[in-house]
Amino acid sequence: MDGKIPEDLKERAYQGKSTKEDGLLLLGVPPFELFRFADELRSLIAGDTVTYVVNRNINFTSRCVGTCGFCAFRTNTGRVLSLEEIMGKVREAKQAKATEICIQGGLLPDVGLNFYLGIVETIKAEFPEMHIHSFSPMEVYHAARTSGVTVKEALLRLKRSGLDSMPGTAAEILSDRVREIICPAKLRTSEWIEVVSQAHATGIPTTATMMYGHIETLEERIDHMLIIREIQKKTGGITEFVPLPFMPYNNPVGEKMMKESRYATTGLEDLKNYAISRILLHGHVDNIQASWVKLGKKLAQFALHCGVNDLGGTLMEESISRSAGASNGEEISVEELEWMIHGAGRVPKERTTLYGRASELFSGNPKKPRCGVSE
Ligand code: SF4
Repeated sequence: MDGKIPEDLKERAYQGKSTKEDGLLLLGVPPFELFRFADELRSLIAGDTVTYVVNRNINFTSRCVGTCGFCAFRTNTGRVLSLEEIMGKVREAKQAKATEICIQGGLLPDVGLNFYLGIVETIKAEFPEMHIHSFSPMEVYHAARTSGVTVKEALLRLKRSGLDSMPGTAAEILSDRVREIICPAKLRTSEWIEVVSQAHATGIPTTATMMYGHIETLEERIDHMLIIREIQKKTGGITEFVPLPFMPYNNPVGEKMMKESRYATTGLEDLKNYAISRILLHGHVDNIQASWVKLGKKLAQFALHCGVNDLGGTLMEESISRSAGASNGEEISVEELEWMIHGAGRVPKERTTLYGRASELFSGNPKKPRCGVSE
């Protein structure tokens, strides 16, 4: 290869038919050639617009029976927020004009589905218009198992209670080889796919994440992206892909890596990963999101020239990444986010969780996801 992306590879990308071999070949393309092509594809889908959502994270407990070796958030004794405490945070979010609440927490040994339903129903009773984007596939699986119901039943009841969408977290790397080492008690690859696909079938859209930069191979990263693409082809229920670089501090997986003089991903590696995601998912998943919490604000801004068209949420209260060494703050103001976006030569637009305009949320006419998954 002469440093240029082959024309036939580009043609497959335009048609949404990139292959695994294309993904592997792209890893060796000079960075700025890669970024230029990813940026072209982003521009075809999103134009100059860069979106973000005004939201609030609420982590109802750090107590967890999980054993994930990459986790710096988990405790044995963490307190569980009461419903009233959760509602206090939701009211603050409403005051700050948040349109979305993102709730996730550790896996409690003694609570089942009713606990999760109670949170959703209490929020919806007071704020029916607030979009509840909550509970990872692992939490839904855990709730179903603890309550002795199927995942399908759990999802149906959550949907009926008012759950609007789910974060596609707990994906880590969708490879059982990797999962066996870093999160052996978590969902297997096929189970994650099943929960997410079942959510889409129930009318609950999800995001899709990938936590990379630990023990996985580059090939396993490409496989992960192509698994996400396959799910999207079948269900159309994925709103965005969110690559998340592994944070190596205060957790056993990271500490072992650092003892072997292996550190977290470099900035260039992160940017290449965003660009390859954009290329492999083109025609299927329209939105590629960069996390300013994980990348830092300056690298997240640069990622807008490497295939990224969304900067996620303002968060108000980020604690999971912070516990693993992220030092980029717990929240970002709309003004600062828009400043970053303007600084990248793009046009900021507040969106709803499902990529409608935030203003449409209040006119009762939110944009439907293009897949036809109903809200
Ligand atoms: S990643 Fe989630 S499930 Fe795993 S140990 Fe941490 S809090 Fe528990």
